[in-house]
Formats: sequence, C-alpha cells, structure tokens
Amino acid sequence: MTKTAIPASAPQTPMMAQYHTLKAQAADCLLFYRMGDFFELFFDDAVAAAACLDIALTSRGDGVPMCGVPAHSAEGYLARLIKGGHRVAIAEQTETPAEAKLRGSKSLVARAIVRVVTAGTLTEDALLDSRSANWLVAACPVAGLWGVAAADISTGRLELMTVGEHLVPAELARLQAAEVILPDQLELDALEGILSGVVLTRQDRRRFDSRVAEETLLQMHGVATLDGFGQFDRPALAAAGGLLAYLDRAGQGRLPWLAPPSSRQAHDRMLIDAATRESLELVRSSTGERRGSLLDAIDFTVTGAGARQLQADVSAPLMQQGEIDDRLDLVGWFVEDSLIRAELRGALRSMPDMGRAAGRLAAGRGGPRDLAQIRDGLDLAARLHGRLRAPRDLILPPLLAGLLPSLIGHGELIDLLARALVAEPPLDAAHGGYIAEGYDPALDALRSAGSDGRRAIAVLEQQYRDRTGIAALKIRHNNVLGYHIEVSAKNADPLMAADSGFTHRQTLAGVVRFNAPELHEEAMRVVQSGSHAVSAEAAHLEELTDQALRRAAMIAATADALARLDVASALAEGAAQGGWCRPMMTQEPIFTVEAGRHPVVERAIAQSGARFVANDVALGDPSRLWLVTGPNMGGKSTFLRQNALIAVLAQAGSFVPAQSAHLGVVDRLFSRVGASDNLAKGRSTFMVEMVETAAILSQATPQSLVILDEVGRGTSTYDGLAIAWAVVEAVHEVNRARCLFATHYHELTRLAETLDSLSLHHVRAREHKGDLVLLHELADGPADRSYGLAVARLAGLPAPVVARAKSVLAKLEAGRAATGGLAAGLDDLPLFAALVAPEPEESDPLRSLLEEVSPDQLSPREALDLIYQLKAAHQRG
Ligand code: ATP
Repeated sequence: MTKTAIPASAPQTPMMAQYHTLKAQAADCLLFYRMGDFFELFFDDAVAAAACLDIALTSRGDGVPMCGVPAHSAEGYLARLIKGGHRVAIAEQTETPAEAKLRGSKSLVARAIVRVVTAGTLTEDALLDSRSANWLVAACPVAGLWGVAAADISTGRLELMTVGEHLVPAELARLQAAEVILPDQLELDALEGILSGVVLTRQDRRRFDSRVAEETLLQMHGVATLDGFGQFDRPALAAAGGLLAYLDRAGQGRLPWLAPPSSRQAHDRMLIDAATRESLELVRSSTGERRGSLLDAIDFTVTGAGARQLQADVSAPLMQQGEIDDRLDLVGWFVEDSLIRAELRGALRSMPDMGRAAGRLAAGRGGPRDLAQIRDGLDLAARLHGRLRAPRDLILPPLLAGLLPSLIGHGELIDLLARALVAEPPLDAAHGGYIAEGYDPALDALRSAGSDGRRAIAVLEQQYRDRTGIAALKIRHNNVLGYHIEVSAKNADPLMAADSGFTHRQTLAGVVRFNAPELHEEAMRVVQSGSHAVSAEAAHLEELTDQALRRAAMIAATADALARLDVASALAEGAAQGGWCRPMMTQEPIFTVEAGRHPVVERAIAQSGARFVANDVALGDPSRLWLVTGPNMGGKSTFLRQNALIAVLAQAGSFVPAQSAHLGVVDRLFSRVGASDNLAKGRSTFMVEMVETAAILSQATPQSLVILDEVGRGTSTYDGLAIAWAVVEAVHEVNRARCLFATHYHELTRLAETLDSLSLHHVRAREHKGDLVLLHELADGPADRSYGLAVARLAGLPAPVVARAKSVLAKLEAGRAATGGLAAGLDDLPLFAALVAPEPEESDPLRSLLEEVSPDQLSPREALDLIYQLKAAHQRG
C-alpha cells in the first residue's frame, strides 16, 4: 500500500502529533483513534477501512483522508475488519476532557493504545463463532524439531507440542487456526497452502524464548515446575514463548488468563494430513463452510462448548484403544437410557457458555452478566451432578464417573454470586443496577437516599404546581441541565419574576425551563447518591471478578466436563436417530464393516427421497487392498470416503453408520480423492496429485488406512496407468497398509494375479432398455465394462457427440483386441517385490573413507588433509 503523505501545507497540530506517536506504536495495525463518541481513522488506515467497511471516506480540512465509526457500535465494524484480515489497535481516551482542562485550557486529552485486536485474540461474543474454537497458534523450529503452541484466548485453553517439521502442516490443519505467528524470515513451503486465508503474523525470532515462557507459566500458575502438567521440551516452550510475547503485546502488557498448558503428543492422535482433511471434508466442506461437512452431519450438540469439543474430537481422533472405549461406553450409556439423555440435553440447552464468560472476565473485558453466567452455569452443573449420580446401584461408565467430581465443589462461589448479583444483570456495568439488594447495607442506603430524593422531587413538583397554579408544570431531567422545572412558554411569565423563587435556565421553542433552590438540593442528593452507588457497585464487581478468577481453572474443568457430556449425549442422539452401531475396536490391522453408509451423502440424498445403499467392506486377511472398479457415478468415491469417515468417527469415540463394525485402530489416515487444482499455488492437478501420493507412500504404515481414488487420472493414459500400477504395488508390498483403491483403469485388475492380498470389487450397474441404472451396490470381482458413454448420455452430452464417441470407441476397442490392449506385455514385468529388495551396495570410496575416520583423533592438519582426500574421491567418483 502506498503511504498517503500529509499534505505539505498541513500544519502538524498537537492532535496529529499524538496520532502519529500512537500510530508508530502499532504500525501493522489500523489505528482506531477515539474522539468523543467516535473512533476515527486517518491516512491509509482510513482508505483501507472505508473500503473494507463500505463507509464514506471523507477528508479533514487539511486534506487528510479520514473515516469514523461510532464507538457504541464499534464491535460490528471490528468484526468486519478482522474478517477482512486486518488487525486493529484501539487508542482510547485515558482521561476526560474535564481532567485534561485541569492541565490548561488548551490541553489535549491523553490517549493510549489499550488493546490490539486480531483474529486470534478475540473474546467478544459478537466477534466469535460460538460453535468453533478460535485458535491462535505460534510455531517455530528449534534444533531440527518444531514447537507448536496453540491458545484459545476465548476460553483460556493452551496446548503445547513438539513435532517433526513434516507434521507441522497437519497440526495447523487440525487446529484451523485463526491466526498463526511465525519467526521473522522463516520460509516454509509446506505451510503455503495451510496458511492461505489465515492471518499470518511475523515476530522477532528472539521472542520465541523457551526460558521466558517457562518462567511466565510457572508464575501464572504459582508452581515451581511444569512437570505436574506434562512434559514440555524446548521447542514446545519456545513456541509458547512466541505466543506469550504476542499476547503480551496484544493486551498491552496484560496477559489473559490461560489454563495450565496441556502437552500433546503427535502419536497419541490419528495422523491426518491437510490434504486428507480437505478431501474428507471433516469439519468444513470443499467450499469452506461447516454445512456439508462430516461435523455438520453429526453435530447434535446443544451448547457452544459442546460443539467446540466435538469439532476438536473429530479433528483429532484418538489412538489409545482404552480411551476410545471409554468414550464409546459413555455414548452407549446415553443410547441405552433415552430418558436421561433427553433430560440432560434439555438441561444443557439453558447452560450458559461459562468458558467464554470466564475468558472475557480474565481478559478484563467481562461484565456482571458474565459473572451471572458463571453462577447459573455452576449451579446447573451441580444439579446435573445430582441427577447423573443418582441412578440407583448402577455402575457408571468410567468416563462419566471421572467427570462427575468436576461438576461440583463450587458451592461457595455460587452462594456468593447468588447473594451479590441480581437475577439478570445488565450487560453493561456503567449504570450499575447489578448488585442485589441486601448484599451491601451501605449500597442499599445510597440507593434509598436516591429514591428518597426522587420521591421528594415528585412531592416538590406537586408543591410547585399548587404554588404557581400551573397544572401542566413538570419536573424533568436531562443530561445537560439535570433536574429542572419546565412550563409552556405562555405560562412562563409568573416564574420569570425576580421574586418568584425560580431561576431561569433555558428558553426553547414552546417551553421555558427553570431551577429552584429546593429542587437543586434534592437533585444533588439524587445525583451524589447515584454516583456513589455506581462506584460502590463497581468495587463489588471487581472483587467478585477476582473471586471468580481465583477459581478459573476449576470453572474451566466444569465447563470441559459439561462439554464432554454434551458431546456424548449428542452422539448418542445421532446414533439413536440414525440407527448407528457401536464399533468394536481392536489392535489387529483389520477393517470390517457390515452395511456401512456415508453419513453426509445419506443425509443429502434423503432430502430428495432417495435411499442410500449400504455396503460391506472387509480389509485384512486375506485381502488388505481392495481394488474397486465400476462406472462413473457408480458410488466408488462415496464407498471409499464412507469407510475413511467410519474410521474417524470410531476413533473420535462415536458410533458409526453401519450395522456392525470391527475396526483395527488406524494410526494414519490418507485420502487422495478426486483431482484438485491448486493453480493459485502454481501447481497443476497432476502435480498436486503426485505430491499427495508421494506423501502417502512415504508415510503410510501397516497400521494405516489409505483411500486412493483414481490416481494417475490427471495425465496421459499410458503414464497414468503406469503410475497407478506402481502405486498399487508399492502400497501392497512396501507400506502394507489397509487400502481402498478406486480406478477406471480396468487393466489394473490384472494385479490380482500377482499380489496376494489384493482383491477385486466393483460397483454394480446395468443397462435397462438403453438406460443406465446405477445400483450403488458393491460386488466381488472386476466391473464388466466402464459405461462411460452411458453416463455421458445421462449427463446430457449431445446425441451426435455420443454417437461419434461410440464409433471412436469401437475403433479403439478393435485396436486393443488386435494388440493385446494397453496392458499387453505387463505380465512379463518382474514382480515389484523383487525390485524393492535392497540393491547390493556399490563400493563407494567416499563412504569407505568416512567409515575409517575417528574425528577425535585427528589433528587440525590431518582434518584438512582429510577434506582434500574426500574432495578428490568425490571428483573421481
Ligand atoms: P466417478 O467415477 O465419476 O468419480 P463414482 O463412482 O466415484 O463416480 P460417486 O461420486 O461416489 O461415484 O457417487 C455419485 C453419486 O451417486 C453420489 O453423489 C450419490 O448421489 C450417489 N451414490 C453414491 N453411492 C451411493 C449409495 N451407496 N447409495 C445411494 N446413492 C449413492
């Protein structure tokens, strides 16, 4: 962006000088400069904001571009600016104009930046999606590994982890961060795609300091070591350092409260790379919306916190069978007991979002309503505890038994807040009215003094009417005059008289206003007691906030437990409605599903009255790799994806859309479905396909599940077939992963003859009176033909084109018959297994030289000689 210079003629007023000082402190932000009831923006900031907000760009007398937004509705504008990828520094007036005047009549009101608002540091309800976490993520490399620190400031959650560089994109994709902080001058190609659409912030490398992070966290939680929270190594702490430094700046020195860090290990969750997440549309559909995603199809949660937890669960399926079974037990418990499920869900519907209320209080942006939400939420949690614990002599599922204690133990705080706050406090604390009567006798006295004064004023009004004989005389109140007497202009004369006892204040069209000594006195009583009462309430608010924040970690634990209960009962609700089954988990590398369905497609086609055809799968002995052929639109992709989704659901702790499922825990899930261009990144369809396939071949293990759909489609027939052929062989022989491979290359079916664990399957179709009928039903064996032309006709390709294609096809097929077809000669290929056997090592002079060296025994001179020898050997080789 070009800098809009101040016109040379413009004199630098004190206000503009102050503006520039503040702007220099927040050069990368739009500066919201408070002027009375407005936030004003100037220069380039004004140009950018006016364009983003679609508001008028004006200019000051000196030609400086400006625009402004009303302070009282600033949140809505902020939301749009943040969505538009901006960050905003808020410069507030830190004194009143009256206070400024004490320093001299021309003194400028002091202003300071009180907060920097960015996508990752929001706490306001209006700016956040209640059903999604809002992750701010810092990542940095340390000694060959990467630290990743993720905080959701809106609830105080903090996760730290250390991962290999290749896993960083997968972690960022899992978190769907709103904002990512990286060290300056660090380029990481692999992050390119992940970071598109994310606010990226660069920060000095030195601010990613593990020691500072450790000290800050120790101090924040009043502990001598972090060991009690988990194991945190240097990269993870360095990332935490970057995160904390950034938060410190955003809060202008005030760090928000963060829960004790939890340590996350990459290997305790199913690994799902970014491409797989995208292709399976786990939490967002291909258009980037929640609608149409797996999450959307299974989300029956009734609270925002529950929805956030479900998103986290689906994004990071578990790996430990015990943990998965615990979650499934709880879902099963709620499936069995529909009464308690309905009761719990009914109660949770009125559960306030305590996590976010506590987040706002901790960030210093909370109000009386947040405290009331915590009071009501904790109270409801305690009542739920009574209900869930009560069931007879039943043994509770272990997860539930573990969650129950977190629902109670807040009695004192609930009592305090119940005594202190009115039932429904106002959102804004500015005018008081939220501290309950009876909580503070001094406050009650101030309030009754105020109401005595107001009563006295009502009495005065009657007295003045009697005294003047003006029945229409009124005592009114406004912000400029305060309390005053008002009569119509035609009645004003008697009150104007010098000895009337009234003092003239204001004449307007039609009315005249007066004051009187008794009224003044009573008004003072009302105003003073009112302002004292507001201050007294504010002091109570501070104290109550303090009390609540002292228990922040316990409140967060209660909120988390309630979110978990919401998730489990919601999954049970979905399972009961959809007739889903509990998957049986095992460590064996099998994947057996009877009558499995695709949760999203089933829902979509149900809307048009169609019925989803369920299909079985059985990967493992004797067939680990299924090669699926069949017509276009036959349902191959749907079948592949539904099985990947079943794996995700099961390990997230959900029932699955099937009649039965016996599943071996999946360590890594890979899906390469359909071709997707990423031309913006300068990669063609085929390039993307190959990059992703390469990742699968280098990372999949025998414990993995791999879904490959039409690999090789993006290039010429021969090249594509050759690549697909080799990829099937590699997955079968080297990775030995469970795999579903869909293809239109019929030639691949020949692989069944050489690969023991590969079996052939097809989706059925038949032609009926010239029309193609897709049965979407899986059967054993290869497809008999491809039906491509029939599908083309179905799609409305003009009849002459279809007819022409038919004759071309006839020619091609005749040619194929004569030559033995595309795959002619492939049967003579040596087996892939023979090729991947380790090649005999050639003698390598460089290697032999290096093997003989003992570095500690070399003198500097010998070391130099060695370098010459190595160089010479290299040149010879
Ligand atoms: P192509 O080879 O052209 O990519 P495909 O064989 O992969 O096609 P899908 O994309 O899986 O076919 O399915 C096409 C459509 O068929 C789906 O959008 C859905 O409407 C319907 N469909 C797929 N599977 C089923 C099923 N099991 N039951 C009912 N309808 C299905």
